[in-house]
Amino acid sequence: MMLPGQICRSGLQQLRHLLLWPLLLLAPLTSATELIELLTTPVQGALVIARTDPAASVALDGSHLPVTADGRFVFGFGRDANRQSLLHARTPDGREQSLLIQPAARQYAVERIDGLPPATVTPPPELSARISREAALVAAARRNTRRSDDWAMPFIWPAKGRISGVYGSQRVLNGEPRRPHFGVDVAAPVGTEVVAPAAGMVVLAEADLYYSGGTVIIDHGDGVTSTFLHLHAVEVSPGQQLDQGTRIGSIGATGRATGPHLDWRMNWRDQRVDPRLLLEPESWQQAP
Ligand SMILES: [Zn+2]
Repeated sequence: MMLPGQICRSGLQQLRHLLLWPLLLLAPLTSATELIELLTTPVQGALVIARTDPAASVALDGSHLPVTADGRFVFGFGRDANRQSLLHARTPDGREQSLLIQPAARQYAVERIDGLPPATVTPPPELSARISREAALVAAARRNTRRSDDWAMPFIWPAKGRISGVYGSQRVLNGEPRRPHFGVDVAAPVGTEVVAPAAGMVVLAEADLYYSGGTVIIDHGDGVTSTFLHLHAVEVSPGQQLDQGTRIGSIGATGRATGPHLDWRMNWRDQRVDPRLLLEPESWQQAP
């Protein structure tokens, strides 16, 4: 049964949406020219690249976003992002635009893996201090990234191989739902070369983390980072500047990996995004 009050509330909400959307989308409020142009589609798990006047200052939900010399800026939506974000740009001469962005929903696969040794599903309690120390190390490496345009170049695949895992899939290990998979997995023999998919600075290089084994994090600037897991060899060190295509190490099965593969993850700040969305869709089935 539906109560009159409910109908009334939902009607009001619809009306608010109808009124708010045109107001915000038809901005700029003080000028006839659009100040914000989205260059990539805002979907869940997307790194969104947009353009504005190079002199503009930009904020997403009140948080400042750096703008490149040619007016580009970047932000990202996590796997389950479902709220509208407010993007605002303003130039020194007073032009401004506000844009409400609703990330489009995606469907994710469910992967069931049974018969894993129990210790890999639930780590023994004596390892919990090590695991939380390493998680803090990784989180710190992704925080406070540099101002740099390195993220603005077209990304390339970091390794050649078969795509054996995709972003967002829900893993059910021995019947227990686990955290979703956030990387794209490239399966290839141990020793296969891994290169930087875009320029950046190495902010973490560890030979043996509990879950991820040989691990490298590259800072591509403005909050965008790439993380490479399960490396057999780590051949870079923190502080090193990398050109796109520079060798960083080789594929392995270190850490909690079931077989040799590269797990490539990307973040915008603490939001995990899908690396494949930065690459040409034609290349999605098979890494080159
Ligand atoms: Zn993986």
